[in-house]
Amino acid sequence: MGYALRDEHYYTYADYCTWPEDVRYELIDGAAFMMAPAPSVNHQTMAFEIGRQIRNLLEGHPGRVLLAPVDVLLARDDSANDDAVDTVVQPDALVVCDPHKVTQRGIRGAPDWVLEVISPASASHDQIIKLAAYERAGVREYWLIHPTDRVLTIYRYDGNAYGRPQIVALVGETPIDVLPGGERSMGTYRGQAFGGLNTAISDGGKVKSAAMNQITIALSKGRIFEETLPLLAAAGIVPAEDPEKSRKLIIGTNRDDVRVVIVRASDVPTYVQYGAADMGIAGKDVLIEHGGAGLYQPLDLNIAKCRMCVAAPAGFDYAAAVRRGARLRIATKYITTAREHFAAKGVHVDLIKLYGSMELAPLAGLAEAIVDLVSSGSTLKANNLVEVEEIMNISSRLVVNQASLKMKREVLQPVIDAIGGAIQ
Ligand code: ATP
Ligand code: MG
Repeated sequence: MGYALRDEHYYTYADYCTWPEDVRYELIDGAAFMMAPAPSVNHQTMAFEIGRQIRNLLEGHPGRVLLAPVDVLLARDDSANDDAVDTVVQPDALVVCDPHKVTQRGIRGAPDWVLEVISPASASHDQIIKLAAYERAGVREYWLIHPTDRVLTIYRYDGNAYGRPQIVALVGETPIDVLPGGERSMGTYRGQAFGGLNTAISDGGKVKSAAMNQITIALSKGRIFEETLPLLAAAGIVPAEDPEKSRKLIIGTNRDDVRVVIVRASDVPTYVQYGAADMGIAGKDVLIEHGGAGLYQPLDLNIAKCRMCVAAPAGFDYAAAVRRGARLRIATKYITTAREHFAAKGVHVDLIKLYGSMELAPLAGLAEAIVDLVSSGSTLKANNLVEVEEIMNISSRLVVNQASLKMKREVLQPVIDAIGGAIQ
């Protein structure tokens, strides 16, 4: 959890210890973030349940499980005095194996495992600011849980940095690599413990990201990034790097108060929904599949234009099959769109979810037809497929986090207006 900056001062643990106990803060690199009031019941239930399972797995081992609030001091040097420690966090749950790190006032040094359960108010703080602090401190495993999506993101420290995270659904068993008692022999955390739990977030938490005057824009690489550049430029925003050339996922811009995060095209709405990004640009295809919850969609940007269509092998008489009332197997990445389209036409289909190369499915005998995006049609042609039905035109839209728009309107509205004015 964690939120608005207290002010612009640089603080240390020595200052922190003098603050009243009724307001909770976290210190990150000397910046004090005020934490929201108590998290929701679901949030606490989830943190407790995971902590409980891990405690059971640790039975007979030296590790200790602790739940928030516990101060974790992440000094650059473990012997640092209180006034040299400028990072103090309170993870939702943690495991610490080295007993020397445990003091009565808190944990000194990196825990072995840390859990944060994301709430709308803490998303960007947990996913960006605390992630960087845990990585720098060398926390071996960082678990981030998205309770509404029931997705768990695991960052593992390779001795130097966190690589790409592993993303798993909160079902089945998830191995925990850092528990003591052998290299990979650890325990497994059982995600289905949440089967009966309503994990919808009911915080009503306000989105206050680290700094109220900072904005984060979520973009995907490739055509969306390229076609967005002129629109951003019209708003006076120029990214400092090209994501195709740099491997950075967080890119600064010419404006100190604006940064860009590079995410998978289909993840853009999720980042914006949770407030990890204040705004983003996503295709209509992606927005339909996401559902649009929590998103304000003020502008159709008229970029990344293409169409969603049904395509089938050149020799397959699709129209005749439909007339006969045949049951068709359709492979697609766009399950929601496809379901609605065929339901409206009264065509019986079995939908097969794919994540890429839809055009292969009919050739390999997986499906009779596909639902996919087409622009020039050359990919279809190269695979001997023909477009047999157009479903809809697609273009990309600006999406804005509804809470950000309220809280940061002064910074966001001029950007939205300038982008709106530059649409071709
Ligand atoms: P990933 O490559 O990460 O799996 P993706 O394939 O969905 O994601 P892109 O191919 O970069 O990502 O597409 C991003 C967006 O661009 C899509 O969501 C869609 O709105 C649009 N798009 C996709 N294909 C085309 C196309 N052929 N022409 C124009 N726009 C397209
Ligand atoms: Mg792609």
